Amino acid sequence: MRKVYLDNASTTAILPEVIAEMTKVLSDDFGNPSSTHSFGRSGKVLLETARKSIAKQINAAASEIIFTSCGTEANNWILRSAVKDLDVKRIITSKIEHHAVLHTVEMLQQEFGISVDYVALKNDGTVDFTDLVELLSQEGKTLVSLMHVNNEIGTVLDLEKAVRITHDYNALFHSDTVQSIGKTEIDVQKLDIDFLVASAHKFHGPKGVGFAYLKKNSGLQPIFFGGEQEKGFRAGTEAVHQIVGMAKALEMSYFELDSHRTHIKELKDYAIQQIEIVFPEAKINGSTEGFYNILNVMFPFLEDKTAMILFHLDMKGIAVSRGSACQSGSVKPSHVLAEILNDDDLKQPSLRISFSHFNTKEDIDLLVQALQTV
Ligand code: PLP
Repeated sequence: MRKVYLDNASTTAILPEVIAEMTKVLSDDFGNPSSTHSFGRSGKVLLETARKSIAKQINAAASEIIFTSCGTEANNWILRSAVKDLDVKRIITSKIEHHAVLHTVEMLQQEFGISVDYVALKNDGTVDFTDLVELLSQEGKTLVSLMHVNNEIGTVLDLEKAVRITHDYNALFHSDTVQSIGKTEIDVQKLDIDFLVASAHKFHGPKGVGFAYLKKNSGLQPIFFGGEQEKGFRAGTEAVHQIVGMAKALEMSYFELDSHRTHIKELKDYAIQQIEIVFPEAKINGSTEGFYNILNVMFPFLEDKTAMILFHLDMKGIAVSRGSACQSGSVKPSHVLAEILNDDDLKQPSLRISFSHFNTKEDIDLLVQALQTV
């Protein structure tokens, strides 16, 4: 059976070139980068070369990149330290952030008594900037945390505008850019952003590694303690093979960005076209202008089919999802869709179809055929 993977917002296939680099490090360069002997020095060179390469892709200085175990860790760290060490008393975020941000903010509210405001969203899930300005004009040291690309519905934040408005009110800006790094150009100097985060497994790199970008002199402090790795910001022996793999994956993603983006955009348009032909009553959830690799569609199936659709597709070798991977086993409706759909629509089955450059039109034909037999 031909397998079809259309769940690339959840994770992506690791590139063979990335595996080759990682394998080389695992077999030849096992030294601890903190050791002073030649084995350690080789590890350190690999680490710092990876840091420079990643920094270059987003126009940062190498010293502004701190490696972490994943996007979740980077989000947790930035938000927690902003409250603990930067005197942030208020966080403005949105109800459709990933749980790595939402649950962290809830916890900080409980622990530190900070106030939390959720910016109003338009019907398509995009941020209402008028409301953001209104919220920012209130008192108190504030951090705004808004994701760049929503992982479930693909809505895109105008980052440049969001940062500009936030800075006009002397607040700090953090963005969960896990879904956009490697898939669209990001220039931290042009954006003048304070913090952003990335996760390698979303751009064809390995799982279990990510990074945080902290603007120079951010004042952020570590949240756990140990050795002096990462200039004391993130104790723990660095996973050199993972970091080298992440740098390679990011370099390749940006090198091929134009051709991959064109290919994926065509696939998404083709998928919308085919779905509209076969299911004229299907509706796109979120903005029709959504990010090019994510498509979230409400299908006109009976409500009681919701639970079995993924299973049915899986039996046919097709992988899509109902929401973020962390929730896809759950029968609870997605917290993102709950913000933009009415109660009736929320009960309808919706699927997130997310593409990579490895997908083909045939994949989409197979998906649409399989959906016809639901
Ligand atoms: N933020 C967003 C928008 C995501 O899509 C994900 C991954 O599902 C994460 C954060 C968490 O990243 P990681 O899996 O590296 O912890």
